[in-house]
Amino acid sequence: MAQVRVYNKGYDLDTGVGELLHTTTVRHAFGMIRRGVADPVVLAIVEDRIVPTALELTRQLSGAWVEGAGRRSIGFSYQAIHERDHWCCTYCGRSVSKTPPCEALLATVDHVVPVSRGGPSSWLNLVSACKECNNRKGARTPEEAGMLLRVDPYDPARSYRVGGHVEALPDAIAS
Ligand SMILES: [Zn+2]
Repeated sequence: MAQVRVYNKGYDLDTGVGELLHTTTVRHAFGMIRRGVADPVVLAIVEDRIVPTALELTRQLSGAWVEGAGRRSIGFSYQAIHERDHWCCTYCGRSVSKTPPCEALLATVDHVVPVSRGGPSSWLNLVSACKECNNRKGARTPEEAGMLLRVDPYDPARSYRVGGHVEALPDAIAS
């Protein structure tokens, strides 16, 4: 089932830049639109049906919120990191794969804060990266390497951290 990207209010239609909160199912996306929680910003035709592929919340979320609280957590693995990041390099955005057309695009998992600096192997510190970007970044932070994370890492089952603190999932989005 196709996933719909959900952006915080402030999504820029012209550049496609926005704060990605999480992804959801098409069915849930229609529910959010019906409830006035979100507006569709990108549409696609899938099997002769117009479906949203990206939504923008109608009001801005700040702080952090918990998605699917109580749901059992998603199994953590390097494979799961690539799936969360849609098999795209978090730094350059190119598609990565275990069997890439060239070695530069080999799927690797990068520690945002390097292991040598005490960076943990966790949902929030691991991202999908192509071999080329991973090698270029080396044992540096993205800031030191002058590289930008296109999407902030998040735990798909537990939370999305926007600010420094945790807020309850707004009722309107809980269903
Ligand atoms: Zn890359």
